[in-house]
Amino acid sequence: MSAALDSITHAVPLGEDYPEIRESIRRICTDFPGEYWRELDARGAYPEAFVKALTDAGYLSVLIPEAYGGSGLPLRAASVILEEIHAAGCSAGACHAQMYTMGTLLRHGSEEQKQRFLPGIASGELRLQAFGITEPTTGSDTTQIKTRAERVGDHYVVNGQKVWTSRAFYSDLMMLLVRTTPADQVQRKTEGLSVLLVDMREARGNGLDIRPIKAMVNHNTTEIFIDNLKVPVANRIGDEGKGFRYILDGMNAERIIAASEAIGDARWFVRKATEYASERVVFGRPIGKNQGVQFPIARAHIETVAAEMMVRKATTMFAAGLPCGEDANMAKLLATEAAWHAAEACLQTHGGFGFAAEYDVERKWREVRVMQVAPVSTNLILANIAEHTLGLPRSY
Ligand SMILES: Cc1cc2nc3c(=O)[nH]c(=O)nc-3n(C[C@H](O)[C@H](O)[C@H](O)COP(=O)(O)OP(=O)(O)OC[C@H]3O[C@@H](n4cnc5c(N)ncnc54)[C@H](O)[C@@H]3O)c2cc1C
Repeated sequence: MSAALDSITHAVPLGEDYPEIRESIRRICTDFPGEYWRELDARGAYPEAFVKALTDAGYLSVLIPEAYGGSGLPLRAASVILEEIHAAGCSAGACHAQMYTMGTLLRHGSEEQKQRFLPGIASGELRLQAFGITEPTTGSDTTQIKTRAERVGDHYVVNGQKVWTSRAFYSDLMMLLVRTTPADQVQRKTEGLSVLLVDMREARGNGLDIRPIKAMVNHNTTEIFIDNLKVPVANRIGDEGKGFRYILDGMNAERIIAASEAIGDARWFVRKATEYASERVVFGRPIGKNQGVQFPIARAHIETVAAEMMVRKATTMFAAGLPCGEDANMAKLLATEAAWHAAEACLQTHGGFGFAAEYDVERKWREVRVMQVAPVSTNLILANIAEHTLGLPRSY
């Protein structure tokens, strides 16, 4: 372990790594200015054109190995892509799930499943954007999910309900966490859960009913009612009963990806706030001359740079195959807090105009607020660090 750690000590990338990718993403994003996102936000609509542009340019399949039609780049490349999208004022929320859910299929799926799904995902023909974990009555306590899959011959028959399943209307496939062995028949509560890959094209109207949730942010999120849905056993990822471990495995990538987006958002807010503070003249001078306006922006910048270092460390450890749960959690917490503080500083700097939709500040402010709760709430990260890193007594 220490030799492996030594070997990455000099390998944490600094500065603008992947400059060509950054430049290319910036160019793509210029076609999707604030008006584009405001119009979608007003209608609660999905950014089809933006997702298509990213897919056509190959950026949503960077993590898929070349053998399956992707470009086989490390997680850091995905981080850079998502950070730049958010730094440009765009949002990857409509398509980022593909990057981390696909990892579960890649690491734990059979060769037959990878051949069946990955090339289509890489080409954009198949969208794997939906990830059904959260349920209305269990919330953060994932091992207590109640959606049940019972095996009948070569199928599972699934019954239950999911909530907050983002992008379900725009996804061909959904990674679904279900209980295959009742909770009272397992020794540990983490056992007896399995991951199924549901083909939404067949499932909708045949046991799967999707309903939109009107929410504070345009995240195309839904609730899903599952009533005697048949899913082929051939679509189970990995072994029956080990699904919780597979989902946990994927969480480090998910947290690093969320953290990278938050860094991009923070950069956007700091830039916007700085520009506005330099231009807006009140009392005969730019408001940015006042330290009361400067300091929150400067502090947000410092927090962003510090959080970014943590994101880079977590990503490097992930790439080296080292355990990085603690680092990924800390990166997610620090980056989303930096983004939130930057959002607050930016909104306050804009005064009343911060509330006007045309400045995009209020929309982005709403978007970064969500990150304190999803994909994992801040308290759950703190509880994890308290227990696993510091050895404090278990709180739940
Ligand atoms: C816009 C959006 C998109 C989402 N997309 C998806 C998706 O695609 N797929 C999916 O599966 N889920 C998705 N989610 C769900 C998200 O992951 C959950 O909302 C989140 O995990 C928290 O669960 P909960 O809402 O049930 O909160 P709860 O678990 O009910 O918690 C409520 C509050 O209590 C706190 N709390 C709970 N237990 C403890 C404890 N033991 N100690 C301290 N504090 C505690 C939490 O931190 C939280 O602040 C999405 C949510 C949102 C808002």
